Amino acid sequence: MKKQKIAIIGAGVAGASTALYLSQLGLDITLYEQQKSVVSGPPWCHLHAGGNLYREISDEQCFSLLSQSIDFVKLYPYVVDYRPTVIALADDDKSTPSSLLPRLKRLQKEYQRLIDLDKNNQVLGKSENYYKLYDHESMKALQKAQAIKNPKTNDEWMIAVAKNLDLKKVQFPLILVQEYGLNIFRLAGGLMLDLKASKNVSLKLETSVEDIQKDALGWSIISTKQNQNKEKKQNKEQQTFDYLINAAGFQTGKIDDMLGIKCERMVEFKASYVAQWQESKTVAFPEIIIHGERGTPKGMAQFTPYPNGYFQLHGMTPNITLYEDGLVKSSKTSSQPQLKKKFLDKVNEGWEQEEIKQRTHNAIAHVANFIPSFSEATVGSQPLFGAQQILGKDATLRVAEVSFPLNNYARCEIIKVSSVTDMMQGIVKELMDLNYLSPLSLKYKPSLCQRVDEKDVKNKAKNIAKERGYPADMAERNVKFIMQVD
Ligand SMILES: Cc1cc2nc3c(=O)[nH]c(=O)nc-3n(C[C@H](O)[C@H](O)[C@H](O)COP(=O)(O)OP(=O)(O)OC[C@H]3O[C@@H](n4cnc5c(N)ncnc54)[C@H](O)[C@@H]3O)c2cc1C
Repeated sequence: MKKQKIAIIGAGVAGASTALYLSQLGLDITLYEQQKSVVSGPPWCHLHAGGNLYREISDEQCFSLLSQSIDFVKLYPYVVDYRPTVIALADDDKSTPSSLLPRLKRLQKEYQRLIDLDKNNQVLGKSENYYKLYDHESMKALQKAQAIKNPKTNDEWMIAVAKNLDLKKVQFPLILVQEYGLNIFRLAGGLMLDLKASKNVSLKLETSVEDIQKDALGWSIISTKQNQNKEKKQNKEQQTFDYLINAAGFQTGKIDDMLGIKCERMVEFKASYVAQWQESKTVAFPEIIIHGERGTPKGMAQFTPYPNGYFQLHGMTPNITLYEDGLVKSSKTSSQPQLKKKFLDKVNEGWEQEEIKQRTHNAIAHVANFIPSFSEATVGSQPLFGAQQILGKDATLRVAEVSFPLNNYARCEIIKVSSVTDMMQGIVKELMDLNYLSPLSLKYKPSLCQRVDEKDVKNKAKNIAKERGYPADMAERNVKFIMQVD
């Protein structure tokens, strides 16, 4: 079989993972990324293993998120922070925790079904421990326990919650669920090492794809390598490929436009904030979610712990994570939704200090409504932010993988990072149909994580965090291994 040449545009989690997987299957990959390092797009911190952060989505999407998350944990275990998530409803929320229970039961059953299919799917602990309920009385009892730095059981994780959450502000029961944390800096570090070590991958960093033409030989890609001085682009290059993979994230539409493809999609700019809370350094917290109505001042609060007193905060309100004009749609003339300049300036140039201060304080205050002692937290760094694509017209869509709108062209359109394994399998099937890969390829499971050494990943991840302006502590995990659940 002739060794086919594949171009991938964009080295986010979608493009960089695909590059490594296809290179392991023997294909010749050129990976274009306009930034200095891989996986530098919008942030991600939460493994949506069951979609419990989204009350509005269908059971089918939740089941897909569960099974895709299991695959993601198996693919990249070194990226997972094995700590649970606690879900609460604010006391004045229109709904009740009991309304969440039927779905949790269905998810628990579905998880057991996946374990029955393959015992290696048991990456979230035993199915009977997928979720656990805590009533007011048990939280009161846990308030008396000693706070713990290295919790090993569900109850131990709940001690910090019992001691810090204002129990008058939430409804009972609270729900603890095995949705873990993910660390973007660790994946960036691991993939940088693996891609550079791969003989089949030519990684072109700081290189942006400017134009694409189709000719008799295939896809002709024109790219420019940036000079140190960003203004002066130089080193124009033209290369021809057999197959093109568009993994350009929120700029996917720009590539579609180059190819003359019409497609409906949305792009949403969102931001999360980094706070430091000295007092919490000796205590481990689970992630805490307080559900609320999206887009209103009571929108969901998300409190995500990192080591050494750092927290990533989301607040689904217009003065924290969301922006009034942050969601835009494609038009009749362009498949690329046009974000306002103020958002693109943030992505390309960074933030004004005053806005970082203002919005991070809004986020701290939003969380402190429920965790009063958190009001002492301060700004920890610049925000973690970016724009993400949502294909089609439904802004609540959370699961999507890949489509093939032209011959020899794949368009990656993930919304959550866990969709990456199904996305890669879709591409492999397509390449098998084209005879680029042998029919045995699907039997080969990607082993992307197996070559990276923990010490190297840690060092590389810390350097990347620092280079991007974040504390090196955020490249660490709280918990490295699945806990022994009670
Ligand atoms: C605030 C926020 C929080 C989020 N939290 C979570 C979460 O907790 N869990 C979760 O699963 N998901 C989360 N997401 C979604 C997640 O960030 C995205 O799904 C994911 O990053 C998409 O990955 P990607 O590889 O498709 O795109 P990207 O990561 O955007 O990668 C695309 C890459 O293509 C490059 N590129 C684009 N055009 C060109 C070009 N012409 N030439 C060269 N390079 C190009 C870009 O520089 C970029 O690096 C969050 C999103 C936001 C905005």
